[in-house]
Order: sequence, then structure tokens, then C-alpha cells
Amino acid sequence: MEKSEKRCPLAKKCGGCQLQNLSYEKQLQYKQVQCIRLLGQFCRVEEILGMEHPYHYRNKVQAAFSEDRRGNIISGVYQAASHRVVAVETCLTEDEKADEIIGTVRRLLKSFKLKPYNPDTGRGFLRHVLVKRGFKSGQIMVVLVTGVREFPKKRSFVNALLHAHPEITTVLQNVNPGRTSMVLGAQEEVLFGPGKIEEQLGDCVFRISARAFYQINPAQTEVLYQKALEFAGLTGRETVIDAYCGTGTIGIFAAGRAKQVIGVELNGDAVADARENAKLNDVQNIRFFKADAGEFMTGMAKAGEKADVVLMDPPRAGSDRAFLSSLLTLSPKRVVYVSCNPETLRRDLVFLSKNGYRVRKIQPVDMFPHTKHIECVCLLERR
Ligand code: SAH
Repeated sequence: MEKSEKRCPLAKKCGGCQLQNLSYEKQLQYKQVQCIRLLGQFCRVEEILGMEHPYHYRNKVQAAFSEDRRGNIISGVYQAASHRVVAVETCLTEDEKADEIIGTVRRLLKSFKLKPYNPDTGRGFLRHVLVKRGFKSGQIMVVLVTGVREFPKKRSFVNALLHAHPEITTVLQNVNPGRTSMVLGAQEEVLFGPGKIEEQLGDCVFRISARAFYQINPAQTEVLYQKALEFAGLTGRETVIDAYCGTGTIGIFAAGRAKQVIGVELNGDAVADARENAKLNDVQNIRFFKADAGEFMTGMAKAGEKADVVLMDPPRAGSDRAFLSSLLTLSPKRVVYVSCNPETLRRDLVFLSKNGYRVRKIQPVDMFPHTKHIECVCLLERR
């Protein structure tokens, strides 16, 4: 545990770190109590696994660009429910190198006489900067998200950025003209490098693209996946489904200990990455399908297929009835549910425990120190 607790002067305005006012130890206690309150009815809740150094853990940083009242370029986060940008220069959770790069982009905009994009008027240029960094590989991706396609002096801008930060391995432009709160638009152009980065996780290598989901806390991801694998109890004979598989990380991790793995994921970019990742790691007993997880599972259930273990890692909204009902039909021996929202986890556990499953283990892992977010991995067994 870190001895000196750090504080952020922007905590109130930014709102990203809701637990800033608590020491890290108190934060962990708070999360433990929340888990027991929400999930204690199912089984004993293991002690939350926290971080030794709970700062600058985020490998993905995005900053919105705007102007302050005096016309200075600022970048940071949107104040809750508004278009107003709170200027952020450094952040206790974000990678420090990423914050430095974003600062450089602010200065470059000024010297290239480019303006932040204003979604209300449709004028200006730069909306966001997204930086992704492989902590182990050292590779860095910078995505310049612009409101318009034309990029004046594109070449020299990118060169200046690379000159200031030779450690950047790829630069992309993403065009997002929409009146939307989504950061990334659909159009993407690689301006430098391969357009992707790679990162090591355990013994595996993963390719990360701009738009696909990748876990944002690499240190704790290893802890989380290790637990998920332990709970899965694989012997090498099982057919495993990795549902909501993203870029295939959990499934590829599990493949070495299973007979075969079937990954399913809605986001096409993530599926393409997942297939690449399987090749990259020379994993041959895994297949990926681009589909809604619920529909896919329903299809499998109708076809009379079987699975021994289902690993599932749905988004905050949790799973849906189609998925859970088909899960019952497929009737795997074990279900390992990775959840980033204990409220929807609770809802789904209520359904599964009424329908033939018993919750055996609940392990909270602190993936998002200083924020209120709670991640759990949970083992269910067929009764
Ligand atoms: N297991 C992965 C990703 C988890 S995030 C990892 O650990 O990295 C949740 C994933 O669910 C995202 O990749 C998202 O694109 C995907 N997703 C969201 N809704 C879905 C649905 N209805 N069907 C399949 N995948 C979905």
C-alpha cells in the first residue's frame, strides 16, 4: 500500500474519481462493503484485491479539446452533463506519458494555428486526443479525433509530434463530425506506423486498435484473468465459450488449458483483432464469431450444441434474457461471470441461482482505484 496518499485539486470539477476523499485503504473497504451489500446474499465475498501502487494505472487516456474564455486552448474532461471542458494537465489515474503527449498536442495546435472543434457551431478542427500505451511493450498510439476531414499541414503536424515524442509508434486521424458524445467516429486514417499497438499480458501478446475495447488497467487485468482462469478449473478437455470476448484476451488466455474455445463479440474491429491475436499467439483451438452474444447463444442452444464452461464479461448493462435463457439450455458445468457492475451482476445472479446454478465464489478486484467502479469475478456451478 502506498504510504503517501495523493490528492487531486480537480476532483470535484472533474468528477471522475468519486472516492478521492478516502485513503486507498478506505476505498477498498468501501468497495468491499458495497460488494457484500449487493452480493453477500449469494455467497461469501472474498477480500477485494487492490493495487500496490494505485496511481497512473490507466493505459488509455482521452482528452476533449476546447477554448477557455480568453481563447486559450485547453484539454481535459467534460464537466458532468455539459459541453464545458474542465482543463486537466495531469491526472492521478492516467498514464503520465499520455498526459505529456496531450500537452504537446495543445502547444502544437497553437503553433499550427489550428482550433479546437466546437460541436455547437461545427467550426474548428480538433475534438479529442486519444492515447493508448502498452506498458510492457512500450508502444504508444495517438489518435487525433477531428470534427472535419481536412487536416491542414498534416505531414508537418505529425512530424512535429513525433519529433517531440519519438516514443510514439503510431498516429491516426479519426473523423467524427457527429453531434454526439461518442469520442470516436467511423472514419479512420493511419498517419504514421502500423495503426495498432501490441501489448503483453501474462505470456500472451495482444494487438490493440483504436476502436476496440481493451482493459484499461493492465496490472490488475492480469490479476483478474488469473482469477477467472482459476475459477474456470480447466483440465484440457473442455469446450469453452468466451462471451463478450472483446479482442479475445480471456479466451486466448484459456485456450492452452481447454479443448476448444468459441469467442463471441459484437464489435467488428474487436473480432478482427481477436482473430489476429489468436494467430499472434499461435493459438489454433479458438474461433471467433461477430454476433450479439444473446442471439449467438440462442443459436447454439437451438442447434443442440454443448459447452462445458462459459466465461462471460458483459458491459455495464449486464447480460440479457436471451443470453441467460440459452445459457440454461446449454447447461455448462461452470459459468465464470466477470462483471464491471455489481448491480447488474446481482440481477443476473438472481436469475441464474433461481434456475439451477449456485454461486460458489465472488472475488472483487480493484480495476479502477479512486473511482466508484467495482469489478468482480464470480464462479457459478450447475446444481
Ligand atoms: N472480455 C473482454 C471485453 C470485455 S468488455 C476483455 O476482457 O477485454 C465487453 C465487451 O462486450 C465489449 O468488447 C463489447 O463490444 C462487447 N459487447 C457489448 N454488447 C454485446 C453484445 N450484445 N453481444 C456481444 N458482445 C457485446
